[in-house]
Amino acid sequence: MSSSLVFVKEKLFFNVASDSRLLAYDKIIRLTKLDVEPKEFMHEFSMAIEVINLAQREAEKNLASAIQEITIEVGDLSGVEAEAFESALELLVKDSILENATISIIKTSGKGKCNTCNCEFEMNHRMAVCPKCLCFPSEISGGEEFRVVSLMLE
Ligand SMILES: [Zn+2]
Repeated sequence: MSSSLVFVKEKLFFNVASDSRLLAYDKIIRLTKLDVEPKEFMHEFSMAIEVINLAQREAEKNLASAIQEITIEVGDLSGVEAEAFESALELLVKDSILENATISIIKTSGKGKCNTCNCEFEMNHRMAVCPKCLCFPSEISGGEEFRVVSLMLE
């Protein structure tokens, strides 16, 4: 059985329709009879479901029988909490195309550009200011991504 690496072009949608959120919540309740409070990480759980759906579509499109590995990029400023997202995904992959896949998460740090003093600086949250002049960045140049980068298909 040969495997191939597929780069994903499709974007993930943040604004999940409320009905699919409810559906997601229902699935979470069924799958997690444990000490997790899904409501707290509703966004991460919803995004995990979006990722599984996307993986399913990609697998079908490429006539793959299984997914060996999935690589997801989570930016510090994407609004998705990486650890919560990973836990949510690990819980929800059961009985899905991603059940036996290795989940690889790449965290990218936030970067801002300050036009006042012309510097680039790390941002660990959205309201971070320039360390030199305390200005808000005029541009965010990294860390906003939340996407499926690639899939290793079988
Ligand atoms: Zn500055």
